[in-house]
Amino acid sequence: MHAPIKTVLGFALAGALQALAPCYAAQADAPVSAAKAALLPGDDFFAYANGNWLATTQIPADRGSWSSMAQLAEDTNQRIIKLIEAVQGDKHAGAEARKVSDYYLAFMNEAAIEAKGVEPLRPALKKIGAIADKTELTRMLAATVRADVDPLNATEFHTENIFGLWVAQGLNDPKRNMPYLLQGGLGLPDRVYYLEDNERMHKLRTAYQAHIAAMFKLAGYSDPETRAARVFELERKLALTHASREDSADVMKANNTWTVADFSQKAPGMDWKLFLKYAGLGKQQSFILWHPSAVVGVAALVKECSLDAWKDFLAFHAINTSAGHLPQAYTEQHFDFYGRTLGGTPQMAVRWKRALAAVNDGMPDAVGKLYVSTYFPPEAKAKLQHMVSNIVQAFHVRIDKLDWMAPATRKEAHAKLDALYVGVGYPDKFTSYGPLAVKADDAHGNAERASRLHYQQQLAKLHQPVDSKEWCMPPQLVNAVNMPMQNALNFPAAILQPPFFDPKGPDALNYGAIGSVIGHEISHSFDDTGSQFDSQGRLRDWWTPSDAAHFKTASGALVAQYSAYKPFADLPINGQLTLSENLSDLAGLAASYDAFKAANPQADDRDFFLGYAQSWRGLAREQSLRRQVMTDGHAPSKWRTYTVRNLDAWYKAFNVQPGQQLYLAPEQRVRVW
Ligand SMILES: [Zn+2]
Repeated sequence: MHAPIKTVLGFALAGALQALAPCYAAQADAPVSAAKAALLPGDDFFAYANGNWLATTQIPADRGSWSSMAQLAEDTNQRIIKLIEAVQGDKHAGAEARKVSDYYLAFMNEAAIEAKGVEPLRPALKKIGAIADKTELTRMLAATVRADVDPLNATEFHTENIFGLWVAQGLNDPKRNMPYLLQGGLGLPDRVYYLEDNERMHKLRTAYQAHIAAMFKLAGYSDPETRAARVFELERKLALTHASREDSADVMKANNTWTVADFSQKAPGMDWKLFLKYAGLGKQQSFILWHPSAVVGVAALVKECSLDAWKDFLAFHAINTSAGHLPQAYTEQHFDFYGRTLGGTPQMAVRWKRALAAVNDGMPDAVGKLYVSTYFPPEAKAKLQHMVSNIVQAFHVRIDKLDWMAPATRKEAHAKLDALYVGVGYPDKFTSYGPLAVKADDAHGNAERASRLHYQQQLAKLHQPVDSKEWCMPPQLVNAVNMPMQNALNFPAAILQPPFFDPKGPDALNYGAIGSVIGHEISHSFDDTGSQFDSQGRLRDWWTPSDAAHFKTASGALVAQYSAYKPFADLPINGQLTLSENLSDLAGLAASYDAFKAANPQADDRDFFLGYAQSWRGLAREQSLRRQVMTDGHAPSKWRTYTVRNLDAWYKAFNVQPGQQLYLAPEQRVRVW
C-alpha cells in the first residue's frame, strides 16, 4: 500500500547487520570464501567494501530490497511502536499522542475491520454508482484530488487520483504560494508499464487487469472482467497523454502557468470551472501545470470515453487505494499484485508494521514529535551542525578554485550557499492535528479524514505567506532532502544515527557516511535542476553561456558514465534520468572529503571511502531493481558507490591501477564542482 517514498536520498536500497552497532572499524568487508579470489577495490569497490555483508545478508521476505537505510528505518519503527504502546497505558498522555495511539489501534483492530467488510467504503461507491452525466462525473473526479505529490523536493510523481496537487512557492515568484497540478490516474507505476512492448510488460499488464477484476469481485460487482477491461483501456489512454519520468524531472518543461480561462481554451472537453470548484480551487486565478499534456488528455477523455468506463475507473481506485484498511481478502489481493507480482516480495509485512506505516501517513508530525522527544539528543544536533558548516565551507573553497567559472556566476553560487537554510532533526513548527477526528474503531475513516485535512491545510497555504523554513520530511524518516525553491535542507533525526552518523564515532566514518549525504544535499543546489534556481529560489538563469557550456559538457560525461552501467543485460541505467542525483553524489563526496581532510590532515583516506561505500550497502530483488532503474531518479546503491572512481584521492588510497574495472584515466574522471 505504501509505495516507498521517492526522496532525494532514495528508495531504501542499501544494507543491515551493523545498524545498531557503531561502525567504528571500517575494514574491507571481504567474504571469507572470496578471500582467495583477492577481490580488488579497483575492480568492484562496492563488493570489496561490503563483501561479507553481501554474502551473509538475505532480503527479508516482506521486502523488495534491503539496505542500511531499511535496517535503520526498521529499528526506528521498533522504538516508535514502544512509544505508542506507552501512550496507551498513560492516563496523562496529551490529546495528540492519544490520537496517534487511537489511529494505530484502529488499524490493529482486525476483528472490527473484518466485521465491517466493505461497508466503510459503501457511501463513496454508492455515489459513484449514481453518477448520471458528465457534470456529476466532473464533480466526482475533482473530489478525489489530494495533495499527494511533490515533484521537486520529495520527488513523488505518482498518484492514482486523476491529478495530484502540490502547493509550494511559485517557480517564477518565490514570494507567493502556487498550486501545481501533476498527472495521475494510473494504477501501474508509470506510463512505460502500459506502453512498452515486451513480454515482461505484457505479463504485468495481464496480471494488473486480473487484479482489477479481483477487486471488483471482492466488492460484489457484476461482470468484473468486463469492468476490468474498461478500466485498463481508460488507463492506457491516460498513459498515452502522460509525460515520461525523464521529462517530469525537467523543471523547464514543467514551468507552464495557466489561468482559469486557459483550461477551457487549451483543454476542451470538461467543465473546468466546475472541476476546480469541487477540487477546492475555485478562487484560484493561476496555476502551474507540471504536466499540461495530461490535463488536455483528461478533458478529452472525459468527453470521449463512456460514463460506464469512468464510473468503473473511480470505483476501482476507491477500492484499490483503501485496500489496506479493508478486510484481509482485499489487503491480500492488493499485496498479491503490488507486492508479489510487481515488487517480487514474497510476504506481506506483519500487521503492526502496516499499522505504523498508516499512522506515519496520516499523522506524520505527531509521530515525529513523540520520536524526537525521546530519541534525539542535543549533542547529535550540535555535532551535525558543525559538520554541515565544515562541508559548506569546503564547497565555498571548491567554488573559488573553479577556473572555468565567471566571476558573476561564482558570486551567485556563494550567495546561494550563504542563504541556505539547514534544518537538523526536526522543524521549528510541527503540523497541527487539532481538527482531525480519530476514532479507535474506524481505520478507513481515520485515513480518509487525515488525507482530507492534509489537503485542506495545503489549500490554506495558497492564502498564506511562503514559509521558507517549512519541512517536507517528518523527523522519523530515514532520509534527507534538498528543497531547491526554498534553498533549504532537511536532515531528519532518524538518519542521524549509526551507521550514518555517530556523534562519538571517528571523523573518517562520519564524513564518509553522513558527510557524503550532507555534501550530496548541498550539491543538489548546484545540480542540473538546482542550478536553475537562484539564491532567492527563483527559476532564473544566472549562468553565463560559457559556464553553462562547461557544465553541460561535464555533466554529459557523467550521463555517459552511468548509461554504460548495466544492472541487467536488457536494462542499462538511464544516465539522464539519474543525472541530478549522480552529480550530487559526485560533488557531495568531493566536498565531504575536503572537509574531512581539512579537519584531519593525517587521517587514513581508506576509512573515509569505506565508510561511504558501507553506508550504501544494499540488495534488491529483480523486480524491485528493475522498477527502480525504470522509475527512480537515483541509481541503485551499488552504482552510486562507484562515484569514487572520479576522485583522485581514491586511486591513491587503494592503489588503483590501469586495467582494473573501475579505473579511469585522469582526463576521463568527471569533475564538475
Ligand atoms: Zn539526492
